[in-house]
Amino acid sequence: MQTAPAPVIVAIDGPSGTGKSSTSKAVAAELGLRYLDTGAQYRAITWWMLSNGIDVADPTAVAAAAGKPVIVSGTDPARSTIMVDGADAAGPIRTQEVTAAVSAVSAVAEVRGRITELQRSIAAGTAEGTDPADVAAPSRGIVVEGRDIGTTVLPDADLKVFLTASPEARAARRSGELRGKDSADLATTRAALLKRDAADSGRKASPLKKADDAVEVDTTELTLEQVVECVVTLVREQQPAG
Ligand code: C5P
Repeated sequence: MQTAPAPVIVAIDGPSGTGKSSTSKAVAAELGLRYLDTGAQYRAITWWMLSNGIDVADPTAVAAAAGKPVIVSGTDPARSTIMVDGADAAGPIRTQEVTAAVSAVSAVAEVRGRITELQRSIAAGTAEGTDPADVAAPSRGIVVEGRDIGTTVLPDADLKVFLTASPEARAARRSGELRGKDSADLATTRAALLKRDAADSGRKASPLKKADDAVEVDTTELTLEQVVECVVTLVREQQPAG
């Protein structure tokens, strides 16, 4: 009898604007893997805190509330979803208010503990934290994107990729994404992005950092298709049978 190959776990980390989400979704779709956006989970808990009157500048208040919201992530790369206490949070988590508060909330150890637990459960294919339909669907593994996936959440991932890009390229990409929704100009976007990176890299709990065994890919001069091709090749090298 033939045994099914072990599910593959791909960790994709890096700062904002490096193309993590687009790359991770496309790699997952091409290889038939599930996809988890861990930034969306941190945004979701931040949105819940703001909506429930928690002072996000007070780590004690944030820590006390960290266990309260029920966060459920859909992991289909074609339509990733995020629900908080049964409500669709996909739109609200992308507001400037949430973006400005998320680094402070995600630096709180109790928040990281809670979200990390959900991430490990989802990667292991258990029901907690994800859509039951996704758990039931056959899957060959998962692509998990974030800041600390390779270093902390899934240190035994089969492949770890760390995406980088120049601050100019990252700001230009983010401005492009925001256009039409916001009047953010390039300089403002660049400053906000660098501030968020500094907070994410400088925090005590599980900072943004390249894992020693991660493959670094500088996306500054690459198209999305080129980055996707590069990561797909790296995954296939890991899993020759897949
Ligand atoms: O990826 P995205 O920009 O949506 O992430 C939003 C924020 O969530 C990051 O700036 C960071 O503060 C936090 N985050 C984190 N750890 C992760 C993913 C995101 O702390 N694994």
